[in-house]
Amino acid sequence: VSIIERDIVIIGAGAAGLTAATELRKAGLTVAVLEARDRVGGRLHTDEIDGAMLEIGGQWVSPDQDALKETIAELGLETFARYREGESVYINAEGERTRFEGEIFPVSADTEREMVALISTLDELVAQMDPDRPWAHPRAVELDQISFRRWLEEATDDEEARDNISLFIAGAMLTKPAHAFSTLQALLMAASAGSFSNLVDADFILDERVVGGLQRVPILLAEKLGDDVFLSQAVRTVRWSEAGVSVLTDDLEVRARRVIVAVPPVLYTRISFDPPLPRRQQMMHQHLSMGFVIKVHAVYETPFWREDGLSGTAFSPYELSHEAYDNTNFGDARGTLVGFVSDEAADGVFTMSAEERKQRILTSLSHYFGEKALTPVVYYESDWGTEEWTRGAYAASFDLGGLARFGADLRTPVGPIFFSCSDLAGKGYQHVDGAIRMGRETAAEIVAGLDQ
Ligand code: FAD
Repeated sequence: VSIIERDIVIIGAGAAGLTAATELRKAGLTVAVLEARDRVGGRLHTDEIDGAMLEIGGQWVSPDQDALKETIAELGLETFARYREGESVYINAEGERTRFEGEIFPVSADTEREMVALISTLDELVAQMDPDRPWAHPRAVELDQISFRRWLEEATDDEEARDNISLFIAGAMLTKPAHAFSTLQALLMAASAGSFSNLVDADFILDERVVGGLQRVPILLAEKLGDDVFLSQAVRTVRWSEAGVSVLTDDLEVRARRVIVAVPPVLYTRISFDPPLPRRQQMMHQHLSMGFVIKVHAVYETPFWREDGLSGTAFSPYELSHEAYDNTNFGDARGTLVGFVSDEAADGVFTMSAEERKQRILTSLSHYFGEKALTPVVYYESDWGTEEWTRGAYAASFDLGGLARFGADLRTPVGPIFFSCSDLAGKGYQHVDGAIRMGRETAAEIVAGLDQ
């Protein structure tokens, strides 16, 4: 085992850890970043699959995500807009397909009224929330005891309105069934993006992408950190006292004044803390779990839907792929569709053979875009559920009652141990923007503490 010494050691070379390391370096401190995988980026990963460049993890940037946008600009990366010309597609419970423009799905006048009313009520509740302090919402305790599904059932009898509003938060964001998370957790998801209306607006939420893929961000951050990033170094043990830490992998020991644990909270238990973390942390971390979604990539010789006047944007709470978008790469002549299969639907298709799953998912895409969707030249399913160093997608959220009970302590450091991750963020929660915000905030907190 080789022993190295640094001011700060960072566990995890995702967007949060690399941002923290970069900021600490700027403040004149020495750092080491230990990464379990043989690559940087964590949930950001661009790869070439059968000759197609695919963004296997996070990729979209929205206008409110100023921390991410600043980093993209500082790194000199270019962005491009998601293709959105033409009409979107909606499929209702009867399987009827309708083309539409704008944000509100083409539903009956009654259902539309219910949807607009629900969005407006949710916007009002979200406006009362500081995303960095959701537990301080005036109705936090009450709203954290009721599942989002039950809240919707109490708010309206219109099933289609409920299914659609649920889709924006459950299938599309927290990637858990709406009975499995609280209304407070749903409000946090919306507050983290500015408002519930923002979540409904796909042109806002899925606005831009980075040329070359969003993994360029962690790759360039890591390049600047150079030899201070250590790959294939899974941290097994953190020994700590008020005086400092000793962080151990299988072949490295890093001694430092502080440690930042920049891994998803579901992975904290993979590290042995010596002495153990306090009771509060040990309990709290058990109430956070990952959502689960399959991101499906289908590449075609041409973006055929465009010729048909379709944008590639599609939604249906009744379809296996509950949403789909044009995900064609910058400057690419081929066309790519991306679809998403979430939570229990994902469990369901993973009981099938790979071939049957593929057929089911492509059939769902063909319901939106026609027969041609059945025959992509490249097909790939991002399955983060099998990734040992992530264990789900997109991110972690609390179970019922967990946010009000534990939220305020989520980011509280324990002696020299600091926690930093998109899954702990307020603004930008569950997104790269939140990871960058957390990385900056943790670095600033550490620097301020060392100055005292
Ligand atoms: P991570 O990226 O998870 O980084 C943690 C790192 O720690 C990993 O590299 C991991 O290997 C490492 N690690 C774990 N345990 C250890 C250990 N014991 N020792 C050493 N290293 C360890 N966000 C958006 O903004 N826009 C999107 O369009 C978007 N889409 C997404 C699509 C998918 C399929 C997924 C999975 C995520 C998506 N996200 C999106 C979310 C976004 O990718 C994440 O919120 C963000 O990248 C998390 O960054 P992080 O640094 O907090 O955590």
